[in-house]
Amino acid sequence: MKFSDIPYTRLVYKDVAAQMADIAAALEAADNAQAAAEVVLRAGLCLDEVQTAGMLAYVRNSLDTTDAFYAAEQDYYDETMPRLTELFHNFDLKLLESPFRKELADRFGEILFTKTEIEARTFNSEIIADLQEENRLVTVYDNLLAGAEISFKGGVYTLAQLSPFHRDPDRGVRRRSMEARASWFASKADELDELYDALLKLRTQMARKLGHDDYIAMGYDRRGRDGYGPKEVQVFRDAIAKSIVPLAATLKAQQAARIGVDRLTLYDDDFQFKSGNAAPEGTPDEIFTRAREIYHRLSVETGRFFESLVGREYIDVLTRKGKRTGGYCTDLPLYKMPFVFANFNGTSDDIDTMTHEVGHAFAYWMAADLPSVLRTPTYEGAEVHSMSMEFLTWPWMEDFFGGGARKYRYAHLAGSLTFLPYGAMVDEFQHIVYAQPGLTPRQRCDAWKELEAKYRPYLDIDLPFYGEGRRWQAQSHIYDLPFYYIDYCLAQTVALGVWALAQKNAGSAWEKYMAFVKLGGADSFTGLLQAANLDNPFQPQTLSTVAAAAAEWLAANPVAG
Ligand code: ZN
Repeated sequence: MKFSDIPYTRLVYKDVAAQMADIAAALEAADNAQAAAEVVLRAGLCLDEVQTAGMLAYVRNSLDTTDAFYAAEQDYYDETMPRLTELFHNFDLKLLESPFRKELADRFGEILFTKTEIEARTFNSEIIADLQEENRLVTVYDNLLAGAEISFKGGVYTLAQLSPFHRDPDRGVRRRSMEARASWFASKADELDELYDALLKLRTQMARKLGHDDYIAMGYDRRGRDGYGPKEVQVFRDAIAKSIVPLAATLKAQQAARIGVDRLTLYDDDFQFKSGNAAPEGTPDEIFTRAREIYHRLSVETGRFFESLVGREYIDVLTRKGKRTGGYCTDLPLYKMPFVFANFNGTSDDIDTMTHEVGHAFAYWMAADLPSVLRTPTYEGAEVHSMSMEFLTWPWMEDFFGGGARKYRYAHLAGSLTFLPYGAMVDEFQHIVYAQPGLTPRQRCDAWKELEAKYRPYLDIDLPFYGEGRRWQAQSHIYDLPFYYIDYCLAQTVALGVWALAQKNAGSAWEKYMAFVKLGGADSFTGLLQAANLDNPFQPQTLSTVAAAAAEWLAANPVAG
């Protein structure tokens, strides 16, 4: 069935409640392990129904934020999902007490109980109203950014549509377009401060109701993290500060020399080559056609998958007014299909989407038949799916960029390294502000400014809004998905390992990738890595080894400008 043909029916709370009551009763009545396992599968199916309905509304709302119907449905789920969470939470508590725990762990893996325990820690009925309010505030933030209309050079642009100007070969265009962006954000600064203040206080309040001092532990639990905590993440960030920041500074100095500027400013940061960044050739339709061919050449599985994605229209990548900004991949479990959402802008971002989000989608599609609880890994694991795919499609970049492919590969690899300090900064910022919820908005911005100096000392930020330590307010994860960001850095480290292997032996890299993808979420992040024989980013030598390999490649493959 095509995505547009999927009938939408609002999910009614009392129907789900009745179904879950049945399922809970069946669990209690189960007098053997087989019966208990069937109940676990039924609960998973019920969760799939809930997620499918919620995601259908979410996707259709983000495709057109001005459509009043789906906006209202989104509001409905913002309000209803926390109450539905309670139903599943109550089931989880019962499951944790099952007399068939050992047999269920044998059947589904210990991960069933690990996941259930972590999930159970993130909820009690006292936080329902807080969760509803959190959803509402997140939607306000998303809509604020989606509704941006920025006048520039006689046109009116969304934030996504304005981005290509920030990479224009003319430095004046880069500067003025960033100024236009900055002044739009500056006009919303008070609103952004208020929204974040409200979210941070709300999350702290929820965490306290669950028995924590602050939101950090709850934030980790909500990301489902297993096997590592803030301490391990701090060690990882320190490794980035120590071994990647100096390397990034060198790469950025080379970039400044290449594009002919004395000192790299925020509006030079994304401009890689004097002759212009690598740009894909052709129309979005042509890019599509080429992507289709590439996925056929990559493997039989990716070919079949892409046919399914395009044929059933589970991909929407053209930018339109009213469409939400950014890109994502989500899934509709009942239809066993992922949905890819993006905003094409004619730059290499479009190719990143065709590889990154499609990487997520492919991994989901490969594991779609697994039971709900085993289907998807935690977020760092999911980002390994996408970030590795970005590298595994490297051999075909000539198809998108022609002669510009060398530039693309160089900028992609260099960008993967220079991204790490930014990701670590976003993560450290959140640890600082959630540990001290009493900080004022000004103090938060000061903390960000200090982090800019620590992690990106090579960058001049001489612009309104950004120069005031407010860059983080444009980073949607910080509002929408707290502590979701170091995931990208962990995953990037693993993906760079896949890249390094692919340079030596593409077949072996693909095999490891497929082994990882096929496991879905059958283990913890580090467990999945071990099972697929991929390097663990928490081991001290992993980051320095991949960084050295990448630096060596960049030195051996310079692009003149
Ligand atoms: Zn991703």
